[in-house]
Amino acid sequence: MHIKLLYFFKHIYIYICMQMQLSNNFVHLNIIWCWSSCTDVRWEQRNKSHSFLPFMAPLFFLFKQVPISLLHIPHNQHSCYTTHCSMTTPNMTYFTSDEFLATFVPILVYWLYSGVYMALGLIFEEYRLHSKKEEDLKNLVSKRDVIKGVLLQQTLQAIVAFLMFKVTEGEVAINSTAESWPWPWPWFALARQFFVAMFVFDAWQYFLHRYMHLNRFLYKHIHSWHHRLVVPYAYGSQYNHPLEGLLLDTIGGALSFLVSGMSPRASIVFFSFSTMKGINDHCGLWLPGNPFHMFFANNAAYHDVHHQRFGGKHNFSQPFFVFWDIILGSHLPYSIEKRPEGGLVVRPVKG
Ligand SMILES: [Zn+2]
Ligand SMILES: [Zn+2]
Repeated sequence: MHIKLLYFFKHIYIYICMQMQLSNNFVHLNIIWCWSSCTDVRWEQRNKSHSFLPFMAPLFFLFKQVPISLLHIPHNQHSCYTTHCSMTTPNMTYFTSDEFLATFVPILVYWLYSGVYMALGLIFEEYRLHSKKEEDLKNLVSKRDVIKGVLLQQTLQAIVAFLMFKVTEGEVAINSTAESWPWPWPWFALARQFFVAMFVFDAWQYFLHRYMHLNRFLYKHIHSWHHRLVVPYAYGSQYNHPLEGLLLDTIGGALSFLVSGMSPRASIVFFSFSTMKGINDHCGLWLPGNPFHMFFANNAAYHDVHHQRFGGKHNFSQPFFVFWDIILGSHLPYSIEKRPEGGLVVRPVKG
């Protein structure tokens, strides 16, 4: 118990240090946070105990980062990004703003993009990771309930996004004037913001996702909803218990936005991209030439492993990279083989 207390105080110490001295150094803070989270999980593995620590790490991350994003960014009228800054465009309404698009474009993208994958799955049976029959037999939830669940999550997501943009109005956008920088710097600035957002989103999701598997109560009552889809399909990507959707996806997305300092306009692209990435990872198709599969080791086959009985305790990383699994020992290699009856199958590779 005293070791747990020690770790607890370590987090408090990091938090106080950050508030007092290091408040503007995000990179430094992220390194400290990663290191401290890794040591927590390693400690937990060594002691074969599932403590509250991995769960605490993301919460501390929230306490450490959000106040900085909200409070410490000075407003500079000269750097206003004129198309959405509320101070330079006082007559603009929410319904014509980037904030509105950042809330609703990803939802539109979700249904359109998953629709494309569902159609492709009917046409290219030979590239399916599970047969259509398996999809109907193994899944523990009806498609109707999946659609209802996703719509509920998206409604909550839109409410939180609206509130977040309201609270940060004229703050985060001004800090992220990548678009007003001279060429080629806006692209560097945007790439940095995207990378930070991807890192934050991944870290948030990895630790919470892993903890939801380790904690029986949370798995049984919350995360098992997502695993009712033993054979994942595109529009099941955001099918979760409403609380999980809110915690992992919505709050994780809000944190990525706040920490990265991207503008609402950049976030339209980022959230649409992360939505497409999630759909791709659940599409159940291994189509040749898919750019997501070429650029990301975390892809449809990687996440399919996690949805199978043999891989349930592995491949927790989502939605972008796989390094948390590799660093923290939950990575399960796999191979994609042809089924004798047609189509493909993902099998674990025993090391
Ligand atoms: Zn899971
Ligand atoms: Zn999944």
